[in-house]
Amino acid sequence: TDHASSMCWLDGQFVSPAEASISVFDHGLLYGDGVFEGIRFYGRRVFRLSEHLARLQRSAAAILLQLPYSIETLAQVIEHFAKHYPEPSGYVRVVVTRGEGALGIDPRSCAHGSMFVIADRLALISEERRRQGARLITAATRRLPADGLDPRIKSLNYLNHILARIEANNVGADEAVLLNAQGHVTEGTTDNIFVVRDGRLLTPPVTDGALEGITREVILELAAELGIAHAECTLNLYDLYTADECLLSGTGAELIPVAEIDGRRMRRCPGPITDALQTAYTRCVESTI
Ligand code: PMP
Repeated sequence: TDHASSMCWLDGQFVSPAEASISVFDHGLLYGDGVFEGIRFYGRRVFRLSEHLARLQRSAAAILLQLPYSIETLAQVIEHFAKHYPEPSGYVRVVVTRGEGALGIDPRSCAHGSMFVIADRLALISEERRRQGARLITAATRRLPADGLDPRIKSLNYLNHILARIEANNVGADEAVLLNAQGHVTEGTTDNIFVVRDGRLLTPPVTDGALEGITREVILELAAELGIAHAECTLNLYDLYTADECLLSGTGAELIPVAEIDGRRMRRCPGPITDALQTAYTRCVESTI
């Protein structure tokens, strides 16, 4: 893996990524006890920074994890990377773990959390696949129920989604869609999902089990500005299979048009609404509002 251009900050210091290290006793590593954010900057300007910081604070609060550095310090580190990264646009990962402790699961053995920030490139899909449209499958792996782990907490527990991605990999698909225990569509492994039917843009409510995606929110705002009818409503597989258009959204993914799901071709890919949203999204990130 090429991390030649990456930059890192770990627990108060700017460090070279090759030298940045975390204890084998860190509970983030031992138990997935921690939270994170993925943020993009475009033309040296950070996109929706305050929304990402607010979500990080909510995730940390929900798991009773005190951020080891202030949110102002964190914001400064992210702005520093946006300014000094070798390229004008890139991706920043923020991770907060419970920190180093005893081997047992009890978080009380961790005296203080650990926080690190990495700036790097992130391309989830090749430009060619993005142009052609992603091929999706429905994963047999269901999303964890919200009363087990609330999907709004952006925690380090991604095994559920990794298992779904392995299913996609095994059949040569680009991404997997996870259903909840009721069979309702929730999201992709690292992105929210939208469909278009009869000119209406639809996405599952987060209460069906999706992350409160910041890009999802931007897409809904852009739809409103463009006069595209839109709603949050429960979707099942039939809604995906019979959609006119389908797209994925996420900080890493940005906007990805979907070409097919479980072998069913979308009627249009990219369709006119996906195209309009794509154009508006690009304009939005470049102006960074
Ligand atoms: N769902 C999951 C499970 C994710 O990991 C992500 C990426 N953060 C998203 C959705 C998209 O969220 P956002 O637009 O805030 O990046």
